[in-house]
Amino acid sequence: MPLQILLNGAKGRMGRTIAGLAGEMDAAIRATTDAGDDPAAHLAGCDVIIDFSSHSATGRLLELAVAKKKPIVIGTTGHGAAEKKKLLALAAKVPCVWAGNFSVGVNLLFALTRRAAAVLGADYDAEVVEMHHRFKKDAPSGTAARLLEIILEERKLTADALRHGRSGITGERPPTEVGVHALRGGDVVGEHTVLFAALGERVELIHKASDRAIFARGAVRAAHWVVKQKPGVYDMQDVLGLK
Ligand code: NAD
Repeated sequence: MPLQILLNGAKGRMGRTIAGLAGEMDAAIRATTDAGDDPAAHLAGCDVIIDFSSHSATGRLLELAVAKKKPIVIGTTGHGAAEKKKLLALAAKVPCVWAGNFSVGVNLLFALTRRAAAVLGADYDAEVVEMHHRFKKDAPSGTAARLLEIILEERKLTADALRHGRSGITGERPPTEVGVHALRGGDVVGEHTVLFAALGERVELIHKASDRAIFARGAVRAAHWVVKQKPGVYDMQDVLGLK
């Protein structure tokens, strides 16, 4: 019997992509929900919930997953820091994979960014640049947010160090600053560059996604994995065995 999925955000770009390839991955979309639907009315017979919708939907969906003891895969981004903290406490009560990016390449980029930040040290100015399609509703992307978190962790800095864009008389760049820049346009699926620049050299780590099927496949792979786990919050590094 294929894995039975409740797909939330089913009418969106990611929802449609997941529905298009679930069948190739020993999974079936048992039920679909989108804005205005009540997921509680569609959960019967589903093994797992996959959510790619809006940050405003995550709280209710997690409450439902906890009440019905259903594993959940969350790909939705755009949660504020305080909002996310509360949601993570709720998510820990069920098996939950929560990832800002489900691609294998990006998960490798996370690992390489951590290594580069550690090896290159504070003398190398760190900046993250991302570009996405014109329809994207949040900025910076969930992936950029994770890359920034990794750099802040390695450098023992807080979110106060983040500098979102620059304009006007900004003065010289302080070494503790971590720059972040979100470009929007056209149909770009997702591009992320992490730069480390010192006097005399620059290292750039670049990932370019050209097909959102990479995220959809990763999410279905995570769904197969999460139904076998104990309650707790996991990420794609856990699913891929990169930790
Ligand atoms: P989209 O705008 O094309 O689709 C979102 C869908 O969610 C729409 O059909 C919308 O009607 C629906 N929706 C809105 N509010 C809802 C609610 N309260 N309940 C149920 N459905 C609701 O967006 P998209 O490109 O498919 O992306 C969806 C989310 O996934 C975004 O947050 C995006 O950043 C994120 N995303 C994550 C990854 C990843 O790998 N983690 C990859 C791509 C996109």
